[in-house]
Amino acid sequence: MPETAKTPMHCPFCDIIRGAGEVSVCYEDAVSMAFMDIQPVNDGHVLVVPREHYARLEDLPRALGLHLYQVATQLIPVVQQVAGTRDMNIVVNSGSLAGQDVHHFHVHLIPRCPDDGFDVPLPFPGSAMPHRQRLDALAARIIATLRDPMRPTPGAPGAGTAVGAAPRPVGGAPAAVR
Ligand code: AMP
Ligand code: ZN
Repeated sequence: MPETAKTPMHCPFCDIIRGAGEVSVCYEDAVSMAFMDIQPVNDGHVLVVPREHYARLEDLPRALGLHLYQVATQLIPVVQQVAGTRDMNIVVNSGSLAGQDVHHFHVHLIPRCPDDGFDVPLPFPGSAMPHRQRLDALAARIIATLRDPMRPTPGAPGAGTAVGAAPRPVGGAPAAVR
């Protein structure tokens, strides 16, 4: 059976949300929760999740995505205070290749400590800097795709319970064709 929002394969976060697993909740409301990561990078590592199962950010109804952003923003200074540091990684792993192990959307709020050994190395040491032409061409492709009126827009009205308009590229011609 293919995985959908309504019929997730076995999901540990759905278990937690329906009360079937041990959890240390630090925030909850009608549509979202935040709880302590079971294997934290550092003390204070929190996961912010929607109560309903969606695998990825782009699957979320837009209003829910905005709500999770607000919850994360509200929790960040609190985590900083509790963990005793302002430095944090706010991380979303999206898809297996990107390191997503639990395919129920979640935002990691990870307080950082000196010499904790965690790393999200950017710029990636294994990558080169492409020519500007290549970056311009890729930007132009993204702008053209954004402007394609036939492009399905996840989270937009008619595709779930989202509100608001789809993001459109702002004014002017793409940098590549100026
Ligand atoms: P990701 O690789 O982004 O999918 O991260 C999944 C995170 O969920 C990891 O940091 C795990 O430690 C955490 N995790 C997995 N199971 C649980 C659980 N039952 N309670 C709390 N955190 C969990
Ligand atoms: Zn789930």
